Amino acid sequence: MMMAAETLVRLRAAAGAAGWSEDAAEIAPLLIDWRDKYKGATPLLLKPNSVEAIAAIVRVCAETRTAIVPQGGNTGLVGGQTPSAQGNEVLLSLRRMNRVRNVDALGNTMTLEAGVVLADAQEAANGAGRLFPLSLASEGSATIGGLISTNAGGTGVLAFGTMRELVLGLEAVLPDGRVWHGLSALRKDNTGYDLKQLFIGAEGTLGIVTAATLNLFAKPAAIETAFAAVPTVQAAVELLSSAQAHGGTVTAFELMPRIGLEFVLRHVPGTRDPLAAAHPWYVLIDISLKAGEATGVAADVLVEAANKSLILDGVVAQSQAQARALWKLREDLSGAQKPEGGSIKHDVSVPVSAIPAFIERAGAAVATLVPGARPVPFGHIGDGNIHFNISQPVGADTQAFLARWNEVSRAVHDIVVHDFNGSISAEHGVGQMKVDEIARYKSAEAIDMMRSIKQALDPLNIMNPGKVVRVRPPV
Ligand SMILES: Cc1cc2nc3c(=O)[nH]c(=O)nc-3n(C[C@H](O)[C@H](O)[C@H](O)COP(=O)(O)OP(=O)(O)OC[C@H]3O[C@@H](n4cnc5c(N)ncnc54)[C@H](O)[C@@H]3O)c2cc1C
Repeated sequence: MMMAAETLVRLRAAAGAAGWSEDAAEIAPLLIDWRDKYKGATPLLLKPNSVEAIAAIVRVCAETRTAIVPQGGNTGLVGGQTPSAQGNEVLLSLRRMNRVRNVDALGNTMTLEAGVVLADAQEAANGAGRLFPLSLASEGSATIGGLISTNAGGTGVLAFGTMRELVLGLEAVLPDGRVWHGLSALRKDNTGYDLKQLFIGAEGTLGIVTAATLNLFAKPAAIETAFAAVPTVQAAVELLSSAQAHGGTVTAFELMPRIGLEFVLRHVPGTRDPLAAAHPWYVLIDISLKAGEATGVAADVLVEAANKSLILDGVVAQSQAQARALWKLREDLSGAQKPEGGSIKHDVSVPVSAIPAFIERAGAAVATLVPGARPVPFGHIGDGNIHFNISQPVGADTQAFLARWNEVSRAVHDIVVHDFNGSISAEHGVGQMKVDEIARYKSAEAIDMMRSIKQALDPLNIMNPGKVVRVRPPV
């Protein structure tokens, strides 16, 4: 259904002079996601820079029953930030809401608006001598509002938790246009339901996050980075456990398969294999040390692991440049899959100790369905979170391979949930990609509670409809 011209006039007025755009060239990149999987349409881009303007916009949306899709950095991987292709939803960009409101170094908190980019948030904390530990490959574009709304994870979760653990308070515009001022910096507050947690991971379906108060930490005095080859995934899991028993804190522990490293070496200029020979699996480890803690922990971890035959070879970075080069191998892994043709991607979690069995079983299922398909399982092994990506067979027809996405995903997800009691979305969210899939795997009681919450807060179903949980059958 076309949006009424009068509604568009009212929305433009609510957004203010510089707060909207109908320029197709400006809007076009915001309607396509990073993986080119979802393409949306919209008659109007709203880009307000104040909470008052956002509240006024949402009030007009409520009065006119206009659906609204919030967007931050457009790095989401499940199509949550992409409006429907019918062109009947307005796109609300939070990017101009990008002020740092306050950094309280002594209290270890900072309050930022939703459109602040993660790299700038890290820098704001760093400038005050503190650490904001969330870190992921999209940190140059992803925004605080998007990271909160997807409950983002990344590489520091095993030490610092996901966004759920990092948010102390929120400010949000509710679906009727009222503003909830929940910017608390309290670490203890047992006065009933923890409302901020409703908005974290809600993917814009319950309201618009406009600002957040975040938890900060002491900056480490040093970070030791090691890269090691392991014979099996089981050895990688055992190495994690043994590294955690040493001094310092294991703040990242990432798994990579040989095929993934080969993709990076082949497609990313300036990269090189840190080890002399090829090995089946690799782990990348960060160990953070506080002031006064003994150094050389990463080397000790590798020596002990070699004595227990948990590693085949390994190196410890001797400089920040070397550490960055090792991290580049991991961060460019997902992008290096692109030149290899189509890939069917999964973001799943299982108990850490079950990862080896999961990778083996899922790999066997994929080999049966699509002989020659190339699994590239990698990721945050310390959180039990594997990006079980599958590259197309060499020389295969990309479209024919991608056409089997649902069939392949069904097999992988059945193994995740039925065999290991895992999750079909560990950190990327549900969006439009998995909205029907979670209805299949979650219990009727869980889906019912999710619908009740959605209907209680957004009875008109104008907030990012059709994402996360359907309250009505799709039209
Ligand atoms: C190369 C790459 C690597 C990545 N690595 C990781 C990783 O390691 N871990 C991880 O967790 N994710 C990862 N992601 C996914 C992505 O970066 C995260 O989902 C991120 O949190 C999205 O932030 P954004 O600002 O781009 O949000 P968007 O993509 O714009 O939006 C994401 C969702 O949040 C909603 N939303 C956005 N802003 C608001 C707001 N202010 N209020 C309400 N709703 C809002 C949108 O409607 C949408 O549903 C990666 C993505 C890429 C491209």
